[in-house]
Amino acid sequence: MGILPIWLGGNSSQKDRYFTEIAEKNCLTAFTLTELEGGSDASSIKTTAKKQGKDYLLNGHKCFITNGSIARLYSVFAVTDPEGGEKGVSAFVVEDGTAGLRFSRKKEKIGMRAQ
Ligand SMILES: Cc1cc2nc3c(=O)[nH]c(=O)nc-3n(C[C@H](O)[C@H](O)[C@H](O)COP(=O)(O)OP(=O)(O)OC[C@H]3O[C@@H](n4cnc5c(N)ncnc54)[C@H](O)[C@@H]3O)c2cc1C
Repeated sequence: MGILPIWLGGNSSQKDRYFTEIAEKNCLTAFTLTELEGGSDASSIKTTAKKQGKDYLLNGHKCFITNGSIARLYSVFAVTDPEGGEKGVSAFVVEDGTAGLRFSRKKEKIGMRAQ
């Protein structure tokens, strides 16, 4: 699921680079959408991505992310156009070790512990 956004929307250089690494090194990935304010309603997420030169600066908090803190790649959903509703949300590939990427505690679950 973590690589699905790259599969669907990534360019060829992202696919070559990330799919090769994931396959060769058996890396974990994470689909990083849910926030305290938005789960089913994906367009209500509050994380923003603002263009800064050729990069984007992402700001926000996510929760319930499977493989959070142990993934190599995070497909992070963020608002790029606040007026755009569901069309104003974009996905970004965030690599582990990216400056500012921090993790809080691992949540306990009542089941699905292997996940
Ligand atoms: C073990 C586990 C692993 C997870 N892993 C991930 C992950 O890897 N990445 C990630 O992004 N998220 C993950 N999640 C989060 C999960 O996808 C969200 O919990 C889910 O999107 C629901 O969002 P929510 O909890 O905010 O509930 P809400 O969206 O608040 O929904 C609450 C209830 O209302 C119902 N509901 C919501 N909207 C409507 C509607 N329009 N019409 C009718 N009913 C509605 C829902 O069906 C649900 O029963 C994980 C959750 C769990 C428990």
